[in-house]
Amino acid sequence: MRKKLIAGNWKMNLDWNEAMTLFANLIQFETSKQSKADVAVFPPSAYIRHFYELASDRKSSIGIGAQDCSEYNGGAYTGELAASMIKSVGASYCLVGHSERREYHHESNDVLSEKVERLLENDVIPVFCCGESLDHRESGNHTFVTDNQLDGTIFELNEEQFSNVVIAYEPVWAIGTGKTASPDQAQDMHAFIRGLVQSKYGATIANNTRILYGGSMKPSNAHELLSQPDVDGGLIGGASLKVDDFGAIINACS
Ligand code: PEP
Repeated sequence: MRKKLIAGNWKMNLDWNEAMTLFANLIQFETSKQSKADVAVFPPSAYIRHFYELASDRKSSIGIGAQDCSEYNGGAYTGELAASMIKSVGASYCLVGHSERREYHHESNDVLSEKVERLLENDVIPVFCCGESLDHRESGNHTFVTDNQLDGTIFELNEEQFSNVVIAYEPVWAIGTGKTASPDQAQDMHAFIRGLVQSKYGATIANNTRILYGGSMKPSNAHELLSQPDVDGGLIGGASLKVDDFGAIINACS
């Protein structure tokens, strides 16, 4: 049985005081509830160590993730962070291939594959993002595009490596737009992705793979989306910046 994962992608939001307040409130929320889901936050990397220490001090099980890492191990790459560095400050997850990275930083399948490899070498769980643009959805190419994003990257991994990857299906047209995939659209794509995993790695690995939905998930639509049989949690942007909204999404997991 797959346990749901609710992950908050804070992107480049919140200064130090705002971030500390939100994280402290989230710890308080999480430790006072018997949450049925695993919970993780992906703050700006400068905050990771402090969050990790605070979560450890308060005996919170909230996982901490980075929003990106370098495809290289280290060296003369100004501004980059190696997978070993984010691991050493307490990250247990890292996003890879978020659509904003693909669009603004032109990250190719080859680069994303390298990032996934570096993370797995350092025992960090890659949360691999995939999903189609509006054009691809409207032209009926959404399955083809998503298949391609997986085929050229995480589907190159061996079984042991793949078993440590989380997939996040995030239709680009639903990210930060307020438009959400309908529960049926989300379920169809998640079942499609799980089918691809099954053809490549077999039924056991497919049944154990967590596939999160991301794209304007909020308290009002979370329960229906999270009730779909192949939706194993959410990657949440905007609604993860308010403890009440993020908490309501965590509570929507049954
Ligand atoms: C995201 O950035 O991964 C995301 C899903 O954002 P939002 O929830 O704001 O659409």
